[in-house]
Amino acid sequence: MSDAPDPALPSDAEAAGLRKIIHVDMDAFFASVEQRDNPELRGRPVAVGGSSGRGVVAAASYEARKFGVKSAMPSVTAKRLCPDLVFVKSRFDAYREASQQIRAVFRHHTDLVEPLSLDEAYLDVTEDRFGIGSATRIAELIRQEIRAKTKLTASAGVSYNKFLAKLASDQNKPDGLCVIRPGQGAAFVQSLPIRRFHGVGPKAEEKMKRLGIETGADLAAKEIEFLRTNFGSFADYLFRAARGIDLRPVRTHRQRKSVGGERTFSEDISSGSALRETLDRIVDIVWDRIEHNKARGRTVTLKLKFTDFQIITRAQSVSHWVEDKAEFARLGHALLEEVLPLPMPIRLMGLTLSKLDRGDGAAGDSNPDGGGPAPSDRADRDRKTAQLSLF
Ligand SMILES: [Mg+2]
Repeated sequence: MSDAPDPALPSDAEAAGLRKIIHVDMDAFFASVEQRDNPELRGRPVAVGGSSGRGVVAAASYEARKFGVKSAMPSVTAKRLCPDLVFVKSRFDAYREASQQIRAVFRHHTDLVEPLSLDEAYLDVTEDRFGIGSATRIAELIRQEIRAKTKLTASAGVSYNKFLAKLASDQNKPDGLCVIRPGQGAAFVQSLPIRRFHGVGPKAEEKMKRLGIETGADLAAKEIEFLRTNFGSFADYLFRAARGIDLRPVRTHRQRKSVGGERTFSEDISSGSALRETLDRIVDIVWDRIEHNKARGRTVTLKLKFTDFQIITRAQSVSHWVEDKAEFARLGHALLEEVLPLPMPIRLMGLTLSKLDRGDGAAGDSNPDGGGPAPSDRADRDRKTAQLSLF
């Protein structure tokens, strides 16, 4: 995993409680889109990507994978492994279109969608919008809806955290489903070869083998100090992963740093009353977006573009989250009053909320050897909760 866990973690990180997480992953996505759109490619080993000397395989169909062809492999190597390999050029418009269709299916069931790429996402379905009653059933419906809309297959993993859900989606590919229920996570993880752990690349795998770590169980048997000595900042993640623990929330807006909106006027405006009215309208629009995105921020920025195209911005930060519209409006108006009267009319006004809480602060990972309950207590609690909660 690229983001090392923060050692200074809230002790009550588990307050989030038991969650229902689905990881959906399309099967051989680019290659499947090509086989869908061109019947001649069906049943044949297909690689998306350039076949030339420096080409690289972007995606391989399952027929090609049988020969050992993999994505990121040089095309020359792929051709050597599978002489009948058919190379097709990538068509990102087609992949993006299918991607939008699957995201619409996800969003039908939950707003808590974290896309990892065009064809993969985590969903938090704890809320169970339609009262379906079981995360497994929701995952099955999602797979059916994806197939109906895109004529493509998806695999899904269902569990109580992202780490396990992602392992599960990989378990029965293609067109598969796997559920890791509360209380089963540790046992599932401990049976796995170490390379199945997300974030353990060939180098880490080699090092682990030298240290006698071949499986999740071997990893779980190591003390945290041993892991820290050998793997540095990766140790805390490994320690938790080996126990099936992962408290990272589903992050809906990874990239988003601000929420805002602006208006360009057909006529330049300069009077105080027109400016204030305009600002109110922008507040309405932007606050809708803030609520829709479940965003919370600390900084409000006003932007004005004058008729000579010069732009000025004024910003104000507060020490708490701006959580209601009245305060957002008040801060925006205070910024506007500061710059009145304007030296010349404006053609554009914008208002933005930034320094956002992206949902990864308070509910971060737990410290593996401090704070929260010991893993055995946790497993015990998982089992208890399982009785109350249908997976
Ligand atoms: Mg995929």
